[in-house]
Amino acid sequence: MLTDQKIQNIANQGLLLADLSDDELAAFCIVANQFYRDGEPIVSDQDYDFVFLAELSKRTPDHPLLNRPEPENEGFSEEKVKLPQRMLSTDKAYTWGEIQKWLDRINKASQEINLPLETIQIKGTAKLDGFAGYDDGSKLYTRGDGNKGSDISRVFERGLNVYNDSERGQGPGEIVVKKSYFESHLSQHFEYPRNFQASLIKEKTLDQFASQAISDKAALFVPFSQLPSWSGDIGSFGEKFQSIVSKLEGGVDFDVDGVVFELTNEQLKTHMGSNRKFHRWQIAFKENKDKAQVRVLSVTAQVGRTGKITPVVELEPTQLSGATIYRATGHHYGLVKEQGLGSGSIVELTRSGLVIPKINKVLKSAEVSIPESCPSCQGGLTWDSDFLMCLNHENCPDQIIGMMAYFFKVLANNDGFGIATVQKLYDNDIRKVSEIYQLSHGNLTAMGFGDKTSQNLLNQLKRSKEESIEDWRFLAAFGVLRLGMGNCENLLKHKPIVEIFDLSVDDIIDMDGFAELTAKLIVDGLEEIKEEYQALRIFRFQLEMTQSKSNMEDFDHPFFNKKIVFTGKMSRPRADLQKQAKSLGIKVATSVNSSTDFLIVGEKVGVNKLNAAKEKDIVILKEVEYLFQIENYSL
Ligand SMILES: [Zn+2]
Repeated sequence: MLTDQKIQNIANQGLLLADLSDDELAAFCIVANQFYRDGEPIVSDQDYDFVFLAELSKRTPDHPLLNRPEPENEGFSEEKVKLPQRMLSTDKAYTWGEIQKWLDRINKASQEINLPLETIQIKGTAKLDGFAGYDDGSKLYTRGDGNKGSDISRVFERGLNVYNDSERGQGPGEIVVKKSYFESHLSQHFEYPRNFQASLIKEKTLDQFASQAISDKAALFVPFSQLPSWSGDIGSFGEKFQSIVSKLEGGVDFDVDGVVFELTNEQLKTHMGSNRKFHRWQIAFKENKDKAQVRVLSVTAQVGRTGKITPVVELEPTQLSGATIYRATGHHYGLVKEQGLGSGSIVELTRSGLVIPKINKVLKSAEVSIPESCPSCQGGLTWDSDFLMCLNHENCPDQIIGMMAYFFKVLANNDGFGIATVQKLYDNDIRKVSEIYQLSHGNLTAMGFGDKTSQNLLNQLKRSKEESIEDWRFLAAFGVLRLGMGNCENLLKHKPIVEIFDLSVDDIIDMDGFAELTAKLIVDGLEEIKEEYQALRIFRFQLEMTQSKSNMEDFDHPFFNKKIVFTGKMSRPRADLQKQAKSLGIKVATSVNSSTDFLIVGEKVGVNKLNAAKEKDIVILKEVEYLFQIENYSL
């Protein structure tokens, strides 16, 4: 399993691909794709396509991730419905050379059906960086897996308009927000338009920003047929390629992620057809621009939950590898001071490898302003090497708010307790997460939350207690220094959660992976959260206990320490089976390769899959046989 730390490490490319197992690589690609869909990409599109997916296709050519449109992690509970028309992904080209290859394929296909090349027309439109949907006139669907999507007609019921005030039912398009509007109204509250767009669609009730953007007609559904386009024959396409691209990209007030080119001749389109992933008669051209010189508008200080003061650098909006960048972190005030990072300076900004844009260096320095007091509590600040810190941990509003919001973010099984909500709770004298769990509907409405919102918040709290959650995640949610998810999992492999508050520094040093300083910080940190931890445990969170290392050695079933893969339709949710297997010391993988030991099959498994497994000498077992063998161990 990939720990969060490892995911970070892979995303930063601090780990060599060669050091990753096939399963780790596949797991990473799935995670990266989910993050992208959630609006918080952890690697750039280019790295995802060229580094990770490319490696995956080399190692596991039949991996499902390679053979279907990118799955959407939509966060919708609704059942999937069949789309009126298939919606595929678009094949991508990053260079003129790749575009030429596409033209060669068109040339060949047109000869096969005796179509003169000069009659072929190419049409280009901007590729919007929004949320893909299909509007059949009565319903709006998400793209889902290309065949089945979710019904999100509620977006129109909430008043969303169609671009150009045109009518419903124009087929495929994207839900987007106007770029100029995002800059003026939303960029203070959302990192990227994508984060905001997601909030328009989700099941939960709209927040104020989303409803305002809808009524301002800034958030829209844009059918592709309504976009300004370029059309011409192949000759002029080649001649004017660059200017067509820049004209189309600059021609709309939306975030753009390249240009889509497609053929218009129906006969040729039918002849070229599609594979499972994309139409062969269509291609997206995306430019790689991952470095820019950008002017700094201002530098503001922000207090994190640990008291660290971070300089947030507001930038002149800049397009960088497909997204508009409005701000970046200046890392720490040491850099501000040393390099002269201030309003009016010019910085070099990159966005390669990591998708979070990064200020590399200050090219032209300006006058800097170093805060003398904490922007949140106005208390004094202390330098700790390069970092400027507010040490008023107990009373600094932003730190307390940050800690509370962090708890819900790490728990990751609830919605609605973002910074804005937690800020409001803070304004009503709430200082601890354990106090939040004691709130009643009456308390919340008295604080100014609406009737529906209050109910929703209470439901979320209830849900976060009732859904099972890994004990290491629960512990990490307290935000103890050096106790991120990876370290928590490691710690709990050595000691059950009920005993960790008794650990000494030496006990922790004796465990693999903890140095002295870390051990000391952990012991101090645990002491600080002990009371709050106990206060929260009263609410009976459903903790799923990490199996300790010593327990692990007790299993003598045939699958212990073996690698298994589940396939087909199982008698219960696949995730449950996987969880159970892991708790029994079984390694669970998602795709079959030569290191797989057992293939556990449910119903409806293709013959090809079974034959492939047989060829690799993998033992094939029916689900019932498997369950029978582990019966004695089942929890
Ligand atoms: Zn402070």
